[in-house]
Amino acid sequence: NLQILLDHRPTDKVSPANFRFVETPVPAPGPGQVLVRQTFVSLDPYMRGRLSDAKSYARPQEVGAVMQGGAVGVVEASNNPRFQPGEAVVGMGGWQRYWLSDGGDLRVVDARAIPIQAYLGPVGMPGVTAWYGLNTIIAPKAGETVLVSAATGAVGSVVGQLARAGGARAVGIAGGAEKCAFAVDELGYDACVDHKSPTFAADLKAAVPDGVDGVFENVGGEPFQQALRRLNDFARLAICGLIASYEGAPTALPDMRVFLVRRIKIEGFIVSDHMSLWPQALTELAGHAAAGRLKWRETIREGLEAAPQALVDLLHGENFGKMLVRVD
Ligand code: NDP
Repeated sequence: NLQILLDHRPTDKVSPANFRFVETPVPAPGPGQVLVRQTFVSLDPYMRGRLSDAKSYARPQEVGAVMQGGAVGVVEASNNPRFQPGEAVVGMGGWQRYWLSDGGDLRVVDARAIPIQAYLGPVGMPGVTAWYGLNTIIAPKAGETVLVSAATGAVGSVVGQLARAGGARAVGIAGGAEKCAFAVDELGYDACVDHKSPTFAADLKAAVPDGVDGVFENVGGEPFQQALRRLNDFARLAICGLIASYEGAPTALPDMRVFLVRRIKIEGFIVSDHMSLWPQALTELAGHAAAGRLKWRETIREGLEAAPQALVDLLHGENFGKMLVRVD
C-alpha cells in the first residue's frame, strides 16, 4: 500500500521534498472497519495551512503521518453493515492507495449519474463552499453584479453558475485568456477579466458598468484591491480564500474608508463551520450536476506519486479547474 507522509514542515514554500513515500502491506479490515481502494485524491489550498503548525482554525497535519485530504474510491472489503463491497464512497482517505476507515466520516455516493471525482469538486466541499458563501453572505438579487475571483477554479466555477442561475450578472477574474474564454463560453459568465493582463484595472472597470454588489473572494492581492474600487453601496463581500498569500506573500489592508462610505458588509467564513447546511447544498448541487446544469473542469495528474507536485502546482495557480490525482 503506497502511502505519502509529511516528512517535515515547510519553512518557506512547500516542495515535494517535504513528503516521503512508504510502501506498507494492504491492511485487512477489523471489526466495524471498511477497506477503501482509492481512485482519486483531492488537492486543496487549505492543505498549505495545515502543513504549518501555526494556530489556525484546523489542526495541523501531523509530521510522520499520512497526508490528510479528501478522496473518493470503491469499497474493497467491509466488516461494517453500512458499506458493501463495490460501493462508491467519499471521505478523508488521505494520500494513500488503500484506506482503512472506521466508517465514521465515510459516505456512499451515486457514481452513475455523476462522475465519482465530482464528489471532490462541484458536488463536494468546494461546491458547498460556493453555495454557502454565495447564498448566505452575498445573497444576490436578480440583476445585481457578482464578481468572482479564481472564476474557473473548483469553488469559483460553481459560484458563477449559481449566481447566474439566480438571475444575477456574474463577472469572473481569472489568470489568462484561455481561462477567461472558458469562463464565458462554458461556465456562462457574462464577462471575465484576465488579472495577468497589463490593462486589468481598466478591463475590470469596463466589465462592471453598473458596479459590483457582491464579491466572492478566493485570491486576495492586487485584483482584490481593484475590485474594492468598483463596489456599489451596500455591497456584500464573502471572504472565502486568500490563496495569493498562502505561500507567504503579504496581505495588504485596503483603505478602510470604502467600507464606511459604501456601507459594506464583509464576512469571512469556513465551510466546515456550517455542517448542518451541507445536506441541502449537496442535494441541490447533485441535482444540478446530474441534470447537466452544472459544468466544471478538472486538472488530473496521473498516479498517487504525483500528489506532492500537484499540491505545489495548485498553490502556484497552475491548475485549470479542480486539481485531482488519479490513484490507479
Ligand atoms: P482553485 O481551483 O480556484 O485553484 C486556485 C486558483 O487560484 C488558481 O487556479 C488561480 O486561478 C488562482 N490564483 C490567483 N492568484 C493566485 C496566486 N497568486 N497563487 C495561486 N493561485 C492563484 O482552488 P479552490 O477552488 O479549491 O479554492 C479557491 C479558494 O477558496 C482558495 O483560496 C481556498 O483556500 C478557498 N477555500 C475556502 C474554503 C472555506 O471554507 N473558506 C473552502 C474551500 C476553499 P487563476 O489563474 O484563474 O487566477
